[in-house]
Amino acid sequence: MAVQKKFSRRDWTRLVNSFRYQKRRPASSSKYWDERIETMSRDELRQVQETKLKALLHYLRDNSPWYRRRFKEMGLEPGDVRGLEDLPKLPMTKKEDWSQNQVEKPPFGDFHCVTPRQWARDGWMLYSTGGTTAKPRFFNFTHHDKDIWAYGWARAYWSYGLRPGTVFFNTSVYGPFPGMWGSQYGAHLMRCPIIPGGGMDSRRRLFFIQETNVTCVVGVPSYVLHLGQVAKSEYGIDPAKDTKVTDLVTMAEPGPCVPSSKQRIEEAWGGARLHDLFGHTECFPMAAGWSCAEETAVRGRPMRDHLSEDLGIFEVLDSETFDPLPPGRRGVLVVTNLWSEGIPALRYLMGDYMVYSTEPCACGRTFAQADGGLMGRADHTLRVRGVWIIPGAVEEVVRGFPDLDDEFQLVADSVGDRDICTLRVEPRPTIPKEAWPALQKKVAQEMRFVLGLGVEVELCAHDSLPRFQRGDLDAKAVRVKDLRKAPGA
Ligand SMILES: [Zn+2]
Repeated sequence: MAVQKKFSRRDWTRLVNSFRYQKRRPASSSKYWDERIETMSRDELRQVQETKLKALLHYLRDNSPWYRRRFKEMGLEPGDVRGLEDLPKLPMTKKEDWSQNQVEKPPFGDFHCVTPRQWARDGWMLYSTGGTTAKPRFFNFTHHDKDIWAYGWARAYWSYGLRPGTVFFNTSVYGPFPGMWGSQYGAHLMRCPIIPGGGMDSRRRLFFIQETNVTCVVGVPSYVLHLGQVAKSEYGIDPAKDTKVTDLVTMAEPGPCVPSSKQRIEEAWGGARLHDLFGHTECFPMAAGWSCAEETAVRGRPMRDHLSEDLGIFEVLDSETFDPLPPGRRGVLVVTNLWSEGIPALRYLMGDYMVYSTEPCACGRTFAQADGGLMGRADHTLRVRGVWIIPGAVEEVVRGFPDLDDEFQLVADSVGDRDICTLRVEPRPTIPKEAWPALQKKVAQEMRFVLGLGVEVELCAHDSLPRFQRGDLDAKAVRVKDLRKAPGA
C-alpha cells in the first residue's frame, strides 16, 4: 500500500498563493486590485473554491489534531467531498468548540494548524476575543496570514476608490483586535501612510486629523459618528471645511448598513463617503465582505457588501435547522476560511444574519454580495412574544427621528407571565419637555409598524445611555439587554 504523503503547511500556503494573481504593487488595472480573480466567471470561481476546499480537508486532517479527531468521529475522509454540494456533510465549527478545547488543552488548544512551538519560532501575531463573560481566547497567526490579510484589505480599499495619496487615520485601539492591524497592513501594501490614533482622546484625534491632512478615517461606526459630531459641537471644527476627510471606513457594527445611520455619519463628516467592511476574529479576521462603492453610488441602494469568495465559502443557513437557504432568504452566516495557515476554520458559525445575492454588480466584480450587509448577530437579537427583533431594524427607526440622539437601548423583561420590551432613547437637548409625550407616541407607533410588535418607549435624559467614546468594540453587545435570562446564564 502506498504511503500517503502528508499535506504540509507549505503545500497549503503554495496553493493559496497560486490564486493570488496580483503580487506586485500597484494594482493590475486602474479599477481592480486583482482583476483576474475579482472578475472571474462564477463557474471558474466555484472551481477555485472547490479546489481549495478539497485541499483544506487534507490540510486540516494532517495538521490540526482537533479536526483530525472530528473527522475520525464522523468517519469522514477528505476524499469524500467532491464539491460544494457536499458542504452539508462536513462538520460545523462553533465558538464553544474552540473555547472548550482551549480550556482542556491550555493555552492554545490543539485546533490550530501550527503547533505552539512552530508558532513561537515562526509566528506573526496573536489575536484574542472574549474577556467579558469568558476567559480570553487565543488565535495564532503566521506571516503568510499577514500577507493574505494585507492583500484582502488592500483589495477592499482599492475598490472603495482609495488610491496612493490617501492618508489614513485609525481611530480604534490596536491591541489584539484584527481590524486596525488589517487596516494598517492593507494601507501599507498600497503605499499609503497611516496614523495610528488608538491611544488618544477625541480632541487629540481631531487635532491630528486636521493638522496632518488625513483623508480617510477608519473605526467603529458609533465612534466615527461621535467624533464627527463633537468636532462641530465641542471643538468648533467643521469637518467639511476644516479637514480633508473624503472617506470613512467602519466595521464591527451594522451602522453603515442601516440607511438612517449611514446618513447621520456622512452628514457629521460633511458628506464624506462611508464604506463598510466586515470580518471575524476567529474564522475570517480580515476583509470577508466590503461594501461596493459603485453599487451604492450608481444605484442609490442601501449597502451591499461583496464577499471575498476566492478566500472563503459563505453559506447562509436556516437559523434553527441549519439547512441551506436559497439566495434572497435571510439566514445565519457560516464561513469556511480558504486562506489561513494558522487557523483555516471549516464551516464556522459566525452567527450574523445575512441575505446572499448573486445578482450581477455594477462594478463588474463577480463575487456574490451580502444584500444590505450584515444585519446583526443572531445572539444579539431578542425574541419577544414570538417576534424576532434585530437591533439593526431598531437602529433604523431611532436614527430616522431627527429629534432623537444616536444611542438607544433595547431591554426585554418579564412582568408576571408576560414578556415586555422597552426601547430607551434620548430626545436631543433642544427638544422641550412639553414635546416629549408626542415624540414618545410617534416612536412607539413607528416601532409597532416596523416590528409588528408593541414596544414600550422610555425617553431618557440627554447623555444618560451608555456611549462608546473610546472606540472600543463591545458597543454592539451593550445595546441589547435580556433581563429574562436567569442570573449568570
Ligand atoms: Zn460591486
